[in-house]
Amino acid sequence: MNRIGIYSLIVLLSLALSSNATAAVKAVKFGKLWDGHQVITNAVVIVENDKIQSVTANGKVPAGAEVIDLRRYTGIPGMIDSHTHVTYYWNGAPGTNPRRQGRRHVAVTVFLAQENGKKALEAGVTTLRDLNAAGGADIAMRDLINMGAMVGPRLFVSGAGIQGFANRPGITDTVAEAVKQTKAVIDSGADWVKVFGSTGGFDNVTGNQTVSYEEMKAIVDTAHAAGHKVAIHSYGPAGARDAIRAGCDTLEHATDMDDETIAEMVRKKIWYVPTIDHNQYYVENADDVYKFPPGAKENLTDYIQRNYATAKKAFQAGARMLVGSDAVYNGFGLNMRELTWFVKLGMTNEQALQTATVLPAEMLGMENSLGSVAPCYFADIVAVEGNPLADVQVVIKDVRWVMKGGAVVVDKTHATPAR
Ligand SMILES: [Zn+2]
Repeated sequence: MNRIGIYSLIVLLSLALSSNATAAVKAVKFGKLWDGHQVITNAVVIVENDKIQSVTANGKVPAGAEVIDLRRYTGIPGMIDSHTHVTYYWNGAPGTNPRRQGRRHVAVTVFLAQENGKKALEAGVTTLRDLNAAGGADIAMRDLINMGAMVGPRLFVSGAGIQGFANRPGITDTVAEAVKQTKAVIDSGADWVKVFGSTGGFDNVTGNQTVSYEEMKAIVDTAHAAGHKVAIHSYGPAGARDAIRAGCDTLEHATDMDDETIAEMVRKKIWYVPTIDHNQYYVENADDVYKFPPGAKENLTDYIQRNYATAKKAFQAGARMLVGSDAVYNGFGLNMRELTWFVKLGMTNEQALQTATVLPAEMLGMENSLGSVAPCYFADIVAVEGNPLADVQVVIKDVRWVMKGGAVVVDKTHATPAR
């Protein structure tokens, strides 16, 4: 054999080794697996590259597959947080305030915000819908993560949220302006359009409507015509009523909605993301982190009660609800605490789990690839210690292992348990 012949043989041999079909195959074993709909005992999940190939009880492991033995844990689908702010980064330095950090170049924000994404992954959250970021930081993170250049949850992003138009110098036709800004958001590469339809945020719980029905309608129609969906933020009932009338796809926060608005939301199958827990997070961080003024905690506590009561009423009326943490700064990692409220207001543990898995997958239009552990879905799988169908706290506090797109991104299975 000449030199070229030997070289060709070596190339062929190495190709044969690298294209070995089992090289990228993993067999993940769970004592119990809740796949999004039902429990499978002694489940074997076969993962090939980034997708799930099969899910079976007592299934066979293909020869050469890497076996990941998680039989002491319960498997669940990678969870989805439907309302976050991943680019709101703060390093937690004592004496500093997350809201007084000064300006940063967008590239610095993108780099630093990886930390928030990692904390979400550690909480078992493999997908975020992120609603408001400056300078395209969210779009850059989404693309870097999808390229595999950055480790983080899958992102569905809105770019910069659209604010109210009234009393803005130079704007005479506010409906035309709403259309223009919606097109600009979509042109920037955003998946969703976010609208701030009322005041309210951080310690401000006022909820005064800031975008009119006509403006909301123009935004929704423009986005839908371009194949994009709209999330409308309203802390108060007036903005919520008009958001529902205008036909938004998801309604964020919304307290004190009347029965008629709730009924229309149910009839139109508009998703409701009440974000009850995020104000509890603000209460807990009011003094030491945010240094809110006197009275803020009382206002937030009052708002939480109204938010909870509205969410309970909506659930009883048949509203389709989703977990949204509204996580900012040191709120990442607490992403699933909202589930505690959902169970408290009357959901079964399984119904609550679906608000973070199969239902948000449908909201995102990804019901055939996210939110379930099933063949042809992305291999986004979480192992928790305990039985989440008996106690939802398990998915909030006891996440031990996370796979995203077939890659293990969190593994605490060997860690010494805390005593
Ligand atoms: Zn938010």
